[in-house]
Amino acid sequence: MKYSVFSLFRHSLSGHKNWEPAWREPAPKAEYDIVIVGGGGHGLATAYYLAKEFGLRNVAVLEKGWLGSGNIGRNTTIIRSNYMLPGNNPFYELSMKLWESLEQDFNFNAMVSQRGVLNLCHSDPQRDAFARRGNAMRIDGVDAELLDAHAVREMYPFFDFDNPRFPIKGGLLQRRGGTVRHDAVAWGYARGADQHGVDIIQHCEVKGIKIEKGKAVGVETSRGFIRCKKLALATAGNSSETAAMAGLKLPVESHVLQAFVSEGLKPFIDGVVTFGAGHFYVSQSDKGGLVFGGDIDGYNSYARRGNLPMIEHVIEAGVAMIPALARVRVLRSWGGIMDMSMDGSPIIDKTPVGGLYLNTGWCYGGFKATPASGYCFAHLIARDEPKDVASHYRLDRFRRGYLIDEKGQGATPNLH
Ligand SMILES: Cc1cc2nc3c(=O)[nH]c(=O)nc-3n(C[C@H](O)[C@H](O)[C@H](O)COP(=O)(O)OP(=O)(O)OC[C@H]3O[C@@H](n4cnc5c(N)ncnc54)[C@H](O)[C@@H]3O)c2cc1C
Repeated sequence: MKYSVFSLFRHSLSGHKNWEPAWREPAPKAEYDIVIVGGGGHGLATAYYLAKEFGLRNVAVLEKGWLGSGNIGRNTTIIRSNYMLPGNNPFYELSMKLWESLEQDFNFNAMVSQRGVLNLCHSDPQRDAFARRGNAMRIDGVDAELLDAHAVREMYPFFDFDNPRFPIKGGLLQRRGGTVRHDAVAWGYARGADQHGVDIIQHCEVKGIKIEKGKAVGVETSRGFIRCKKLALATAGNSSETAAMAGLKLPVESHVLQAFVSEGLKPFIDGVVTFGAGHFYVSQSDKGGLVFGGDIDGYNSYARRGNLPMIEHVIEAGVAMIPALARVRVLRSWGGIMDMSMDGSPIIDKTPVGGLYLNTGWCYGGFKATPASGYCFAHLIARDEPKDVASHYRLDRFRRGYLIDEKGQGATPNLH
């Protein structure tokens, strides 16, 4: 069923009671050409592009919970391509270009809103670093504008510009950055993949990987054994656990990241803004709530909830940026499990196990990468060679010393 203004009108005549489900609920088959573990954004996007771009339709996505129950439905919805390093920038710009045509492509309203992402700077050296980043972006054909404090004040007069500790000196603006409704991305890709024949199987947990003669040949699941020719892991925060089923130890740690939503307010922040003197990022949803977040809780965990000290830390940074926030009430908070890699950049690669492919290490930046990650992972699985813009995201780069350390923080996951 194609969604359009005409189908909306037609269904209104029958009280919207006859819409078809957006995707089927098939029983798992005994065998598929390709099994993807993880029905988050990346797994679903991979299935969609495998079917649509590479004509591979005998594909299943196995999800242990429900679609959108993982990080795809828990993030703060920010998209941007303001990266600096050659290994990262072209990849994230491909993702931005795919976002720009995504809704027409999969015929689903994902509320892509290019409202601008502004990173604030608070010292002269930080402004120099932003100028360098902006220049690197422009060399790669990505939009970037360096703003002085006056230009930022024109946009957001209520920021604390003269804060004695963190004065605002300016910012780096990417106007094409913005937000996308996160769970609609999962639904749109699921619907698109389903229409191309992919089986999306919810409540099907992978508990083991069967390896014969060094090759992955199937998975033990809560709904029985499923054989496959190729197996792809896209399990984000659970990557270490699923990879361990094939005997692999990943350079990835799992940490909790929290997100917060305030009570509804009249619109006053029309873009995404990040505080440069601490870790705080905020945007305002169409319902009026401020959607914001900050650092990860600094310990390893698989619990999808965080702790109070980090809430205090995040809100302190927010109030340093916008003092009026002190009067706003927080309505909701939750956590997601982050797959923190050792250099802050992802892994899209084959593994030493035959027929086993890996997509992980997204830290807290994987939502914006969803379309490019899906496209590049599908390319790798279908052709057995990496797509050019993802060719640096190798699993063995840590052993070889070819890190893609965008922040220059070294092998310290909680700093990335
Ligand atoms: C609070 C928060 C804020 C964030 N903010 C942003 C942001 O603003 N911008 C940005 O770019 N990124 C952000 N991120 C990061 C982003 O959400 C993730 O990097 C990205 O969603 C991870 O990819 P995914 O969507 O495939 O993950 P997920 O949705 O987590 O998908 C992985 C799936 O694998 C399933 N799974 C795991 N183990 C198994 C198993 N054994 N069998 C079957 N299924 C299994 C899980 O249930 C899960 O559904 C944020 C994350 C969080 C938690």
